Amino acid sequence: MAKFKTILLFGAPGSGKGTQGKMLGTLPGYKHVACGDVFRSIDLNSEVGKVFLQYSSKGELVPDDFTVRLWKEHIDKLVTIGAFKPDQTILVLDGIPRNVHQAEMLDEHIDVIKLICLRAVHNRDEMVRRLKSRALKENRLDDANEETIRHRLEVYDTESRPVLAHYPKAGRVDVDAIQEPIEVAHDILSAILGRTEELHTIDVPPPPIGAKR
Ligand code: ADP
Repeated sequence: MAKFKTILLFGAPGSGKGTQGKMLGTLPGYKHVACGDVFRSIDLNSEVGKVFLQYSSKGELVPDDFTVRLWKEHIDKLVTIGAFKPDQTILVLDGIPRNVHQAEMLDEHIDVIKLICLRAVHNRDEMVRRLKSRALKENRLDDANEETIRHRLEVYDTESRPVLAHYPKAGRVDVDAIQEPIEVAHDILSAILGRTEELHTIDVPPPPIGAKR
């Protein structure tokens, strides 16, 4: 089977991948699949649901084999019911791959045509604020306390960020995630259309010594 043509939305928890992915998914020719949504659609009393809760409530990643198997089953189901037509549609993935091992496992299934990285440079407090406000709106256990949120941001730094190096730099576009959602949307669409000269510039302050970006 041919690989799925894919746009990866990448960024820390709270950077707006879900909001932007949903926006793209409303356009004809694009199908948005968020890995977190796939997990949350499972009955939490089932064995699979319990595994998800066990990890997500602590801000940890669910084990890779389990995650990729579930993700693939979900995609196959979408293809079977005609909700995703791989030959006519670009897959917009958010929340997967989340570590290098997952990226390697996905290589046989996806052909990444664009990697859009939503960057929230040195704005961890804004990420935490967004996640806390989402916890109230969406009743999310993993965003319910600040310690778990901070742990999720650490997991992003140590496990997820290295995924960026797995893909060719030429296909990557960085977008400033601290803008208003409509401006982020503008930049993502510009990136997809190849009009990178229209992107807002990211104002990157000099990092404190020893800080990670
Ligand atoms: P966010 O974008 O805020 O990090 P998600 O909805 O993408 O939230 O994910 C919620 C939780 O689901 C994660 O903290 C993790 O426990 C689990 N999860 C989602 N995607 C993956 C993945 N690709 N690998 C492992 N765990 C995942």
